[in-house]
Amino acid sequence: MSSSKSGSASGREAPSGSPQRAAVVVRQGRDAVLLRSRHPWIYSQSLAGVVGEPADGELLPVTSIEGRVLGWGFHSPNSLIAVRVVSYGEPEPREGWLSERLRAACDLRARLGIDSDAMRLVNAEGDFLPGLVADRYGDTIVIALHARAMETRVGEIVSFLKEAFPGARLFLKRDEHYAGVENLGLATGYLAGDGDGTSIIQEAGVRFVADFAKGQKTGFYLDQRENRRLAAQLGAGRTVLNLFSYTGAFALRAAAAGAVSVVSVESSARAIETSKRNAELNPGIRSEALSWIHADVFSFLKEAGRYDVIVADPPPFARRRAEAEGAVRGYIGLYHQVLKALNPGGFALLFSCSGAVDRPLFRQIVSEAVLRSGRAVRLVRELHADTDHPVAAAHPEGEYLKGWIVHAQ
Ligand code: SAH
Repeated sequence: MSSSKSGSASGREAPSGSPQRAAVVVRQGRDAVLLRSRHPWIYSQSLAGVVGEPADGELLPVTSIEGRVLGWGFHSPNSLIAVRVVSYGEPEPREGWLSERLRAACDLRARLGIDSDAMRLVNAEGDFLPGLVADRYGDTIVIALHARAMETRVGEIVSFLKEAFPGARLFLKRDEHYAGVENLGLATGYLAGDGDGTSIIQEAGVRFVADFAKGQKTGFYLDQRENRRLAAQLGAGRTVLNLFSYTGAFALRAAAAGAVSVVSVESSARAIETSKRNAELNPGIRSEALSWIHADVFSFLKEAGRYDVIVADPPPFARRRAEAEGAVRGYIGLYHQVLKALNPGGFALLFSCSGAVDRPLFRQIVSEAVLRSGRAVRLVRELHADTDHPVAAAHPEGEYLKGWIVHAQ
């Protein structure tokens, strides 16, 4: 069976005269695997094809070859993730399921005690809302869409957010990667209210600019909030090196907690400019303690000096499995350099946000870097994204941010 939009190879014959309901059909044998794992993604190689003529963004039944309904999902014809499953089981999700899940996502955040007015409200699969991310930055909520089917529902998403957050501005951030794969039409800009594409937010009393119009991702690395708290705690009264510093969030949190000095290294000139603005927004923080170095981290580390606390939060080295091997070498080399730059008794916070590097592999990477350093190193705490980035139990890929605090004698 081809993946063309016709045929009845699923065995589902439409009653004559009535149009056949469109459906995605999985290959023989995949149905049992999917029902067992309840994984929210079905890859293109697992599909036998599509029957009928799906409407744009339609929620489709996912069936076995024999026509048994396994669940319901969004089909993406050009993506390796061919189906994003909305629910498993035969019954069709009832009218209003999207708003119900949005409500549940927001209710969860209200219970987490987040010490910030910036937080992830909707974490896609982690909130059973595949293809949708929503980040709150003070009075603005930034929406990022990763699936055409979610884009066709943007009206419902906007209505919900307007009601749940009266007066909030709503901003859509177009992601060019997903826009290409998913054939998204909406451009970056305000969907409700107006502004300059930035917000001033606070995290644990420290103020930051979130530049959602032009910054990376949706503007700010919300996932690192709890890890910034830990770094700030460890950095009090100490010297701190903040590698891959973006807009200086780790740096300002550490300085606010009383770090003696914080050196930040970042290759984006724009991010360094924003870091300096962030420092100005916090007159209570000693600006003499902060230095911003516009440089490549790998060159910088060749003559870095020594520090009591080092944060290394690099961009993803591997986006797909084929790149994993090179990424492993890259991480080991980086962390080895970091350990060399650590004072005796110092702490390093080592991170990887590569989807293709899972937690067991990350642990091996850290161990290998430790072995190469020849130092006595203890693993102090395993690190995760903060609680506003929940992960669906059936979706290990959602656990992209991994880290360790290590202590070197
Ligand atoms: N820790 C930051 C987020 C880091 S994102 C926070 O909490 O906000 C990774 C950053 O590394 C990006 O800002 C990117 O511009 C920067 N970067 C990527 N490669 C780099 C390199 N080789 N040297 C220095 N910075 C780099």
